[in-house]
Amino acid sequence: MPGRLQHKVAIVTGAASGIGLESSLLFASEGANVVLADINLSAAEGVAKQITEKYRQGAIAVRCDVSKESEVKELVERAVKEFGRLDVMFNNAGIMHPADDNALNTEERIWDLTMNINLKGVWFGCKYAILAMRKNPEDAAKNLHVGGSIINTASFVALVGAATPQLAYTASKGAVLAMTRELAMVHAREGIRINSLCPGPLKTPLLMDFLNTEEKRERRMVHLPMGRFGEAIEQAKGALFLASDDSSYVTGTDFKVDGGLSACYVTPL
Ligand code: NAD
Repeated sequence: MPGRLQHKVAIVTGAASGIGLESSLLFASEGANVVLADINLSAAEGVAKQITEKYRQGAIAVRCDVSKESEVKELVERAVKEFGRLDVMFNNAGIMHPADDNALNTEERIWDLTMNINLKGVWFGCKYAILAMRKNPEDAAKNLHVGGSIINTASFVALVGAATPQLAYTASKGAVLAMTRELAMVHAREGIRINSLCPGPLKTPLLMDFLNTEEKRERRMVHLPMGRFGEAIEQAKGALFLASDDSSYVTGTDFKVDGGLSACYVTPL
């Protein structure tokens, strides 16, 4: 059985940890050559090594700060130079800063840092991916075409307000949703599909470093219909669907993998 990303080339940002790490492994297991981008180069290199050894797929790690346009441009150019094309761009890197708070307490520098990574980084990723995907060589025998799939990681907090504020983070993710929809419309006729992934709260370092007491974790648990936090691999499976041709008629969506969180009104027992 050919993999769902056979012959395709994918860039994953934030590939050294959490969703990005699991997605890189899953994409490779489905036949993709993967470019792993992160500010943590040594950890990304470790994942790339795992991919080449376990799945015998092409995998390279690139140090890239997604908030720097020149670095994102170089990242995409490197992927095309190494593997000849770009079919999937997973703009996944993001931060949730511990000093991100409500409207009164959030410092401007925290706001700017968050926006630069979570929103501007996604814009840069889209910009250079679109330019590369327009030039993709056709190879009908390998089911490779002009265009591609871009996935932008947003969050459930882009859809519902959180009573424990992280204003810059929430605003950045809401903007990712709005930007993604518009980009999807603008580039639909070029064969470029662009979707947002909206994860629920997960057991990854990003959230667990923040929810560092049982009390903090329990405060969230009441809102989770399934009674548990999500796993990064469950997001990776959603991202794989959006990356592959299985979702060939899906663009402009807010794709929720949130365990029902944003759909439910739940009260404690
Ligand atoms: P994580 O902290 O486990 O991994 C994030 C990765 O991004 C790290 O490897 C980090 O080094 C990298 N990174 C940080 N800043 C970067 C930059 N400027 N340039 C390149 N790489 C950078 O986080 P995760 O839980 O896997 O989160 C991934 C995405 O999912 C983020 O966009 C996050 O906002 C979103 N998300 C997470 C949750 C959750 O509960 N964990 C929920 C909703 C959305």
